[in-house]
Amino acid sequence: MRTIHELTDAYRRGETTPSEATDAYLSRIAKLDDKVGAYLTVTADRAHAAARAADERYRRGRPLGPLDGAPITLKDVFCTRGVRTTCASKILESFVPPYDATVVDRLAKAGAVMLGKSNMDEFAMGSSTEHSALRVTRNPWDLTRVPGGSSGGPAAAVAAGLAAGGLGTDTGGSIRQPAAFCGVVGLKPTYGRVSRYGLVAFASSLDHPGPFGLDVTDTARLLGAIAGHDPMDATSIDAPVPDYTAGLEQGVRGLRLGVPDEYFTKGMDAEVEAAVRVAIDVLKGLGATLERVSLPATPHALATYYVIAPAEASSNLARYDGVKYGLRVPGRDLIDMESKTRAAGFGAEVKRRIMLGTYVLSAGYYDAYYGQAQKVRTLVRRDFDAAFARVDLIVAPTTPNVAFRHGEKADPIAMYLNDVFTIPADMSGVPGVSVPCGFTASGLPIGLQLIGRALDEATVLRAARAYERATDWHTRRPELA
Ligand code: GLN
Repeated sequence: MRTIHELTDAYRRGETTPSEATDAYLSRIAKLDDKVGAYLTVTADRAHAAARAADERYRRGRPLGPLDGAPITLKDVFCTRGVRTTCASKILESFVPPYDATVVDRLAKAGAVMLGKSNMDEFAMGSSTEHSALRVTRNPWDLTRVPGGSSGGPAAAVAAGLAAGGLGTDTGGSIRQPAAFCGVVGLKPTYGRVSRYGLVAFASSLDHPGPFGLDVTDTARLLGAIAGHDPMDATSIDAPVPDYTAGLEQGVRGLRLGVPDEYFTKGMDAEVEAAVRVAIDVLKGLGATLERVSLPATPHALATYYVIAPAEASSNLARYDGVKYGLRVPGRDLIDMESKTRAAGFGAEVKRRIMLGTYVLSAGYYDAYYGQAQKVRTLVRRDFDAAFARVDLIVAPTTPNVAFRHGEKADPIAMYLNDVFTIPADMSGVPGVSVPCGFTASGLPIGLQLIGRALDEATVLRAARAYERATDWHTRRPELA
């Protein structure tokens, strides 16, 4: 199982070709994905064609850049022209978009080879991929457990060697949490750093597309290709994109790291806490200085998220009316058709979010719930502003626990609680990464989270890389065959 940078180095040296690598991934998918369940759609023909074009560029000694010929997977939330984009929902099961999302287009222009579209919680609502209406995805480290979510498909695919890298989305933790559960690297960029154009919307003010990789270098390469201004997304930031790989090896000497009290809570898994504390000591040993910080709004961020995200979802999902997209169940009249379509097309969690969201936005409750939640969101942002006046990065666990068993969190509140350490960065828009930092005694991966200042992905990645270089957790691979 090779990283993207190892693969592209091998292409350059002529040891292998993008076509050979693509064939190897496609046959591994054919052999192993029945077990893992990462993919919803495999795009073999498209992959072969893209790989052949990359072969030719390497043959002429003129690859497009650091991703040329990299076999990757996309969470099935990104529109792909001519390739069905389901959001793991019955309502979009046969939806074929007429255009590519900006990130899809940028990856293609960078020469990446799309192997297929990967599984997720329906409309990205969930933390286990169990809410997919189309397929079960299993954690490659323990098939009885979930891969995390909502981007469980791409995280499991990268961990299992069914893609060399991937893209997901993080609205409340959906890149960092499955990265932690599957033992890979996952980065949520700054809000607006990466275009949302062509991403099927869940909660527009919280949705962040971002990369998965086997290591920090691959993650930096993928971010470099997808980041940057896009006139098609009104919230896209018009700021230059640095070379994220340039400063990666600079280490952490002199960096001030904040350790937030609120991210070490009573109920958390003791093995997670111990591994993260050791990881923080490793960073200290590499020359960083540690400081205790407080992010007092953290517990309120979770409750507030579950007002704001459903509110935005209820409005975004109003477009699935049986007229414009996907599924239509015939009815007596328009209203009957719409309600039958939505009843059959949406799963239980999506319906729950729509009802919650509609309720908190309704005339009598808007100020009490939605308005209040927006104010708390400002407090969450101010917590980070205050912390980043003193420290360069925040270090914390990604999740309070490791991958749980399928069916274990049947109560929605238990599932929601899983996002307590990831939601605040989404609410405030600052970047965060999860890197592997150990395993439990039973062999399940643990994630270390590094959170940085807005638009400072470079420092986040640099510290993650320094940690990675000093440890070997990221080199472990699950046994599948
Ligand atoms: N688990 C959270 C939710 O269900 C976050 C999901 C996400 O980040 N897309 O809303």
